[in-house]
Amino acid sequence: MNIVQVALDVPLPRLFDYLAADSDESDIGRRVNVPFGKGVKTGVIVGVAAASEQPMDKLKPVTVILRDMPALPPDWLALCEFCARYYQTPLGEVASFALPPMLRKGKLPRMPKTSAPSTGDTGRSAGATDLTIEDTALQPPLLRAQHAAVETIVAAGNFQTFLLHGVTGSGKTEVYLRAIAEVLAQGGQALMLVPEIALTPQLEGRVAARFPGAHIVCANSGMADAARARGFLDAHEGRADIVLGTRLAVFMPLPRLRLIVVDEEHDASFKQQEGLRYSARDVAIWRAHQRDIPIVLGSATPSLETFHHGGSGRYRLLELPERAVAEAMPDVRVIDTRRQKLQEGLSSELLTALTLRLERGEQSLVFLNRRGYAPVLACPPCGWISRCRRCAANLVLHLADKRLRCHHCGFETGIPRACPDCGNVDLLPFGRGTQRLETMLAERFPEARVLRIDRDSASTPKKWQALLETIHAGGADIRVGTQMRAKGHDFPRLTLVGAVGADAALFAADFRAPERLFAQLMQVGGRSGRAELPGEVLIQTEYPDHALYRALAAHDYTRFAASQLDERRIAGFPPFSYQAMLRAEGREMAQALDFLAAARSAAEPLAAGVTLYDPVPMRMQRLMTLERGQLLVESLNRPTLQAFLAQWMERLYALKMPAGLRWHLDVDPLEF
Ligand code: ADP
Ligand code: ZN
Ligand code: ZN
Repeated sequence: MNIVQVALDVPLPRLFDYLAADSDESDIGRRVNVPFGKGVKTGVIVGVAAASEQPMDKLKPVTVILRDMPALPPDWLALCEFCARYYQTPLGEVASFALPPMLRKGKLPRMPKTSAPSTGDTGRSAGATDLTIEDTALQPPLLRAQHAAVETIVAAGNFQTFLLHGVTGSGKTEVYLRAIAEVLAQGGQALMLVPEIALTPQLEGRVAARFPGAHIVCANSGMADAARARGFLDAHEGRADIVLGTRLAVFMPLPRLRLIVVDEEHDASFKQQEGLRYSARDVAIWRAHQRDIPIVLGSATPSLETFHHGGSGRYRLLELPERAVAEAMPDVRVIDTRRQKLQEGLSSELLTALTLRLERGEQSLVFLNRRGYAPVLACPPCGWISRCRRCAANLVLHLADKRLRCHHCGFETGIPRACPDCGNVDLLPFGRGTQRLETMLAERFPEARVLRIDRDSASTPKKWQALLETIHAGGADIRVGTQMRAKGHDFPRLTLVGAVGADAALFAADFRAPERLFAQLMQVGGRSGRAELPGEVLIQTEYPDHALYRALAAHDYTRFAASQLDERRIAGFPPFSYQAMLRAEGREMAQALDFLAAARSAAEPLAAGVTLYDPVPMRMQRLMTLERGQLLVESLNRPTLQAFLAQWMERLYALKMPAGLRWHLDVDPLEF
């Protein structure tokens, strides 16, 4: 063999052949440096061959094949190939993305001299070491439902997708840890994926305390390059026992992989929104199938796709019906705000409840899913409002640091003294964000310590950690926040959650908005209350009889999901159909829509069994000065859609592109 086929990180759906006189089959899966354009690029060898379709005299020799680490295994390459096929992304881009940045650049991290306690790819001898792997003193006796779940998962052995459904505190994590312990005792590796927000030092600590004898590797995009690369090599070379990470960890090579866990499987952060638009949950299921091992998807509020499969028997449903510790579920009530005058957006019931908590020395949380002081600054006499020059969006008023800010592109500017159009100096903030609530609550309850938690106040992990410490030290009476963030944190004296402005999601254009709202409110409520201090959740709404709130008050996810699934079935939305979205962006909307129209014409002859919608401007139709349009395609059958997309992509690559126009395809899109 003297030709290597290389997957390179370039936006072209093809491989590149190079000469390599000394190459053989064992080089498949190795990284290689090759001349490309004017420079050198690192790629991955995915094949070796004796001949090329290119004329031999056109082929260049490789710069060097990197034999400094074991070749990536066939199942890892197959995983990349699957993603390339399914997400219609060039294999080189996928393989490059799947590697940590340092390895992608052809470098290697320095490894510590003494290697980890694990036994490498020969596997652990069963029984001999498991006393030291797991600290069994930390195991609580399992509840019956937990026990049944663990038994079922462990007994599966082969591929099977489990949906572990139970409210926050029902002991799902305990089930994962027991199943992982079994796998480690048998010499296997376990992969546990968690949402971005959930990968905290606290969670790492809980897993590490439980498995003191195991080599645990964490993986997320915020880590330093060298640490991430070392973790990847530890996994690849079999030293790691447990990989705990965010979505990108699904690409870790794991020779002894025996179990995958996806916690909070409904979380939107498992789907990447740029570049390779993959769903780590879906890729994880494919991987479990590939390796013929069980996978556990856990959630209090599963995505409707997953729940549907749980109901149809395709996934096996495991229910944890009660909280593991003696805690009542919080009392969830709606407050009808139609017939009362709110005080800065707060109802008298909520204000009374807050007063009561202050008197009792308990903590409250007011939840509002909107950052900033007010969503817009306006001039009532002339109608001017603060708008972003680059996006189809308002500039949000941030009084805390006296700025107007675009939450989409990051543009910011000072607050004008007077209206830029008419000179009026009485500009008014309209609507309400977390900063305004914070100000209002601080004025209303001067004796209370009010703490705001959102992306502005917790903009770095350090600030977030400091906020957490304040809360744990009992330094906050009322918290105002856009989200709870804190999975795995217990706030013992949190007994009241108020939700403000939730209605907006009930009638949003995005058909997934109610699903997200339900999950969010359930999660927020789930953090309140303890055995001796029952929690209360108060939701302010103008639609007190809405089915979503009724199901929430009854803690009945199943009822909510069933009614949502009925609506989706009638409307023909996922999970009853499969979708892909072609998006285009350019200087002019007409340009983007023209391209999409041409793409639609190219699709027509191929589209048997596929519905092609009309090209339309995106809801956020301008972002960072680029005009954006979208074209939805849909089918009742996934293979039909996949076959169509493959053919369509070839034609799209061949379409003439106006200067400055860019497009991408999003398979199974989550955002509309
Ligand atoms: P979830 O992941 O569903 O939110 P966890 O597994 O984190 O639930 O459990 C919630 C709390 O209950 C944790 O403090 C955990 O240690 C405890 N717990 C879990 N299972 C049991 C059990 N069988 N007996 C006693 N405590 C338990
Ligand atoms: Zn903007
Ligand atoms: Zn004006």
